[in-house]
Amino acid sequence: MPTPEIDRQITRRLEELYERHLPVDERRLDRYYESGRGYYPPAEAGRERERFAVCLATVDGMLYRAGDHAVPFPLQSISKVFAYALALADHPRDAILARVGVEPSGDAFNSIVFDERHHRPHNPMVNAGALVTTDLVRGADAGRKMERILGVLRACAGTDDLEADSGTFERELRTADRNRATAYLMRAEGMLHGDVEELLALYLRQCSVHVTCAQLAVMGSTLANGCCNPFTGQRALPRGRIRDLLSVMYTCGMYDAAGAWAYEVGVPAKSGVGGGILAVVPGKMGIGVYSPGLDAYGNSVRGVSVCREISDRLGLNVFAAEDEDAILGHAPPAAERPGETAF
Ligand code: GLN
Repeated sequence: MPTPEIDRQITRRLEELYERHLPVDERRLDRYYESGRGYYPPAEAGRERERFAVCLATVDGMLYRAGDHAVPFPLQSISKVFAYALALADHPRDAILARVGVEPSGDAFNSIVFDERHHRPHNPMVNAGALVTTDLVRGADAGRKMERILGVLRACAGTDDLEADSGTFERELRTADRNRATAYLMRAEGMLHGDVEELLALYLRQCSVHVTCAQLAVMGSTLANGCCNPFTGQRALPRGRIRDLLSVMYTCGMYDAAGAWAYEVGVPAKSGVGGGILAVVPGKMGIGVYSPGLDAYGNSVRGVSVCREISDRLGLNVFAAEDEDAILGHAPPAAERPGETAF
């Protein structure tokens, strides 16, 4: 457990980091997303332009927050992590692999492309794959399935408040042509079975669950802690399949920028078009970032740049050497090394 002095230092560093990343890199800013409206150009953005929060939640139960950490926003694609987690808990590995792969697609998340060789979507982190994992969630009916998905989200976040926002859900449902087309094509190809509209609604409902950035960080810390919430002590999912989940997040979580992310940040993560990024530093902490300005891949511009810096400064890349690791105390944070800036 950190001493109060270390605690204050981390808070101060996080605030500095927040300030430094507040001026957004306009060259990388490509679009914003709003449910019902779709994508719109940065020139049309209003207050959402300034929205930015970054939070860290450690596996020993410390939470550090900076910026708009209490502003709720839709999980969107970050929910794919939890649908996959439930599918992993509900089915043997082979049964899941028969329906959805673990290869990065190299295509945009909403591309209507499949792994032709194996006749399945490329991975659970793109829309086509998430439709399959949503289909794999067990439950007597759609209501019960949604309750189970909410149950996992709440256990990971350590709060019973999480809900699908009905306005967001209705707007998503009205503008779901592309996902609807994907799902019907998949049923025609035998990759999905059953009621497409019901499945689509379940998928969009989980995308519409609102979280705050602080909650996102806690969700990340639960995944970093072998699926046991470090703040409540509650086990959110069986421990056994966490490796499967984190491996797929590592290789596929950041859409078609997953390779660059692995190279530059080097930890499992998932982003959503709502502007959230959930990053997991196994055995150490969860990172939550929220900022709605998106790059050409659909990832939060500030989110990517702030995570890159945190990873770099604290030596978080999973392939970093032990002596680069400032979290476990092997190395001082870069701030305390001569010639380096904070964090
Ligand atoms: N609801 C969005 C969709 O299915 C989520 C996509 C995302 O966050 N990338 O298209």
